[in-house]
Amino acid sequence: MLTIYRVGDRATKKAPADRFTGDVYQDEVLVGAAPSRMRATNVTFNPGARTAWHRHPVGQTLWAVSGIGRVQVEGGPVEELRPGDTAVIPPDARHWHGAAPDSIFTHLAMSETGDDGGGTEWFEKVSDADYSG
Ligand code: MN
Repeated sequence: MLTIYRVGDRATKKAPADRFTGDVYQDEVLVGAAPSRMRATNVTFNPGARTAWHRHPVGQTLWAVSGIGRVQVEGGPVEELRPGDTAVIPPDARHWHGAAPDSIFTHLAMSETGDDGGGTEWFEKVSDADYSG
């Protein structure tokens, strides 16, 4: 059976303050029903806002929709993301993502739950020094 979720059917959620710095808003696109493990969320970060450090068991793909963003896998450089860019984050790699300091940023975040059904594991917030690269 075809399912269509109409825009506005699901209210935008404010991202929890213990896992994000600044104001972040989440629009659920899909939480797949088994056998699907897909999870897709459209996320909007106010300027300077970002996730805490975290990791995903099967990695994550980010597709930049609008604005200017930042992403870093621990141990690598802070990279800029612009509309149309795709960032592929490996399984279990600690990382963060968010907006540039002076730009709002929206990305589509796509991931899958792990073999045991596990999801995102969260760690400490990203310091201003780490955010600035
Ligand atoms: Mn992530």
